[in-house]
Amino acid sequence: MHEISLAKTLLERVDRLAAEHAAAAVEEVRVRVGPLSGVEPGLLSAAFERLAPAGMKLAIELVPLRACCRDCAGSFDIERCCFRCPRCGSTDVEVVEGDGFVLENITIRPLDPLGAVP
Ligand SMILES: [Zn+2]
Repeated sequence: MHEISLAKTLLERVDRLAAEHAAAAVEEVRVRVGPLSGVEPGLLSAAFERLAPAGMKLAIELVPLRACCRDCAGSFDIERCCFRCPRCGSTDVEVVEGDGFVLENITIRPLDPLGAVP
């Protein structure tokens, strides 16, 4: 299960970030998933739900596949897997976004300074 290990790695990073920011709790984890990342959002959500502490939510933002043309330097969104530059028709294109799985940010609940116990 690819998504289970992804969720585990994600939660480890979230834990570290939460500790760095002295968070009492993490309320939301926001990630960006591209179509070429190989991540299935539904499976990732399910894995996250199983592994994350209660109350922590996962927000998945689906990013479009973007490419850059090596011939005319134009950039464009790839639709229906059409890897062809709409400007000059070249197929010498490079995917610049949409092939990744990125931790975008986390929403934390800070420690209550009045209620904090050392
Ligand atoms: Zn082009």
